[in-house]
Amino acid sequence: RGLMENSSYDFDEKKWASLKKDLKKTTGDTAYNNWLKHLNYISLEKDVITFSVPTKFLRDWIVNNYSDKIKNESKKYNEKIETIKFVVKPTGGRVVPGTARTVKSTDNHWKNTLDIRSNQSSSYPNEFGAPLDPRFTFDNFVVGKPNELAFAASERVAEANKVTFNPLFLYGGVGLGKTHLMHAIGWKVKQQQPDRKVIYLSAEKFMYQFVRALRYKDTSAFKEQFRSIDVLMIDDVQFISGKDNTQEEFFHTFNALIEQNKQIVISADKSPSDLDGVQERLKSRLGCGLVADIHPTTYELRLGILIEKAQKRGVEIPPKVLEFLSHRIISNVREMEGALNRLVAHATLVGTSITVETAQVVLQDLLKSSNRKITIEEIQKKVAEHFNIRITDMHSPRRSRSVARPRQIAMYLAKSITSRSLPEIGRKFGGRDHTTVMHAVKKIEQLKLQDINFNEDIELLKRLIDS
Ligand code: ADP
Ligand code: MG
Repeated sequence: RGLMENSSYDFDEKKWASLKKDLKKTTGDTAYNNWLKHLNYISLEKDVITFSVPTKFLRDWIVNNYSDKIKNESKKYNEKIETIKFVVKPTGGRVVPGTARTVKSTDNHWKNTLDIRSNQSSSYPNEFGAPLDPRFTFDNFVVGKPNELAFAASERVAEANKVTFNPLFLYGGVGLGKTHLMHAIGWKVKQQQPDRKVIYLSAEKFMYQFVRALRYKDTSAFKEQFRSIDVLMIDDVQFISGKDNTQEEFFHTFNALIEQNKQIVISADKSPSDLDGVQERLKSRLGCGLVADIHPTTYELRLGILIEKAQKRGVEIPPKVLEFLSHRIISNVREMEGALNRLVAHATLVGTSITVETAQVVLQDLLKSSNRKITIEEIQKKVAEHFNIRITDMHSPRRSRSVARPRQIAMYLAKSITSRSLPEIGRKFGGRDHTTVMHAVKKIEQLKLQDINFNEDIELLKRLIDS
């Protein structure tokens, strides 16, 4: 009986290929290449057709946005199909247990089974926004030529009790104080006008909430939660580039907020017009308030910041050392702070005084790498060459040891050579989570300790990359 049943369903690779073509036609090339291309046919059993996708994110996206189209097109090949099932199966890996999502057809309309599970819109507000860092205040911000405009504009926005320039768009390179200024705005508003509600969050989190709202078909609840907010700050909007559907929603929400006279503060690493992969009209909307850029630090500003940070920590550091650091660590403030912390930690632990000589020894790697900016891409390339794997394997979800280990090594090197943060590194490795990077760093550190040969291999790679 089973045999009969199977043969009567008659859905094979050929039909799959042709179904893919149909999907491409109905959804368009862009959507197809972004999303549906990653879909793979697995099986047709009874009335259930099963597809696999390489990631959970893709699964959710496809379920929410394309399940109807997939159903309609599939039905043309086999009318009996009533349920579409999506499982997660990383490229070259196996189906991940517990990742199935099914979409069923009932009463002529298709219900996403996860939608029924709960109506969680009431839980949005709690998850919304991120806490403010107590160190990031205006008092702790050192002002110099490179950042005076951004500082003044931020202070103005924080002190004004009505909307001034909208949005305030802060932009500048990594570690130059954008996040610091946004948090400072948050603190100031909280302190001076406690009844004004301030929300700070990363653009990624904002987008994540969007996708969630879309999934629960509940964008109105999503927008609703903005009603009570007076100041909305979104950090690092360069990360929304490319995601067309969410950009669309972002644009509308953004407009609605401006119309409701909410103060918006945005940061990015580039000016609005230079943002890649962002729709033109969104660019011009982002740039229609005040755009304030933070320039790379000058020697004077760096020295000023170091003096301030040393004072705050209550440590005595000879001026010569501070001057030395300001001269030599030029990439960004975060790196400079890191250097200072290391120096202080070293001096406290070893019990020596801080001198230019000790600084040179303790900060050897930092001083070296700040001479020349080494990029994560360079590291990936060198490591891939060294292990004879493809550079695309650095981004791929493949988990076999032969590529996973070199990838971990590249992550470790990225962390120790560049000043990139864990999330930034994760992103460059095919959008991996920061905890994955952290795990990689720990793993490699551990292996280095356990295995002399491994340790030498890594040191050799480091020298190769550094030279
Ligand atoms: P960005 O968001 O632009 O990448 P951050 O705001 O995270 O940079 O700043 C990185 C670090 O440098 C933070 O610890 C911040 O406090 C510090 N920093 C940056 N600029 C200044 C400044 N002008 N004065 C004091 N600290 C600063
Ligand atoms: Mg930041």
